[in-house]
Amino acid sequence: MRVLFIGAHPDDCEFFCAGTLAKYAARGDDITIAISTNGNIGSMRHERKEDIAAIRHVEAQNACDIIGAKLIWMDIDDEYVIDSRQTRDMFIDVVRRARPDVMFTTWKMKDYNPDHDITGYMAFIARINSTIKLIKTEHPPTEKIPVMFYCQPTGGANFIPEYYVDVTETMDTKVAMWMAHKSQNEEWADDMFHVDILKMMKDNCAYFANQTGSSSKYSEVFRLCNTFPIGAAEPHKLLP
Ligand SMILES: [Zn+2]
Repeated sequence: MRVLFIGAHPDDCEFFCAGTLAKYAARGDDITIAISTNGNIGSMRHERKEDIAAIRHVEAQNACDIIGAKLIWMDIDDEYVIDSRQTRDMFIDVVRRARPDVMFTTWKMKDYNPDHDITGYMAFIARINSTIKLIKTEHPPTEKIPVMFYCQPTGGANFIPEYYVDVTETMDTKVAMWMAHKSQNEEWADDMFHVDILKMMKDNCAYFANQTGSSSKYSEVFRLCNTFPIGAAEPHKLLP
């Protein structure tokens, strides 16, 4: 199966669904991680935006390498994902490159960060429009509309999960991928938000796992993109 995650920032995947992607990867599925922005303002300690983008590109590649995922670096300036004709075409071409059976993206219903919201909305548009032959991009149109899930917003605020994936076994991999983003876990999270973001990530997954009433220690949670056409009669079966 082919799996595509489209996130806004180079560390979004790790925070929102890396444990789930690691489960797909472990069973041999093909994983693509697309990142819409280059994260080029995500530092208080560098002067040049291009230096920050270069650091974060390397970190993102290192994280992808841990699970053997392909990286698509879309290189939009951080905090400037804007709904435009050009942006829609970029997202459509990402779906055409990855040709997913199932997609994941950021929550589009008001996370704290507008890049998350608009990336989720662009993915929502691209999911269907990637099949339309008269929309021309570099790669050929896809044949089918994939099932798509939204990830939780940051911290899980204002979010009622529909689907829980037990990531207890892949939590170490999720953490390793997160730690690959050294510029974020060693500098930015503390400089900007004064939070221990690794603790927050693990606590978040533990909180959702508690909701299941099962032996699961950690869960990642999702909501289905439930507008027509959903794309499968039993979409939960596409989760690992
Ligand atoms: Zn983000």
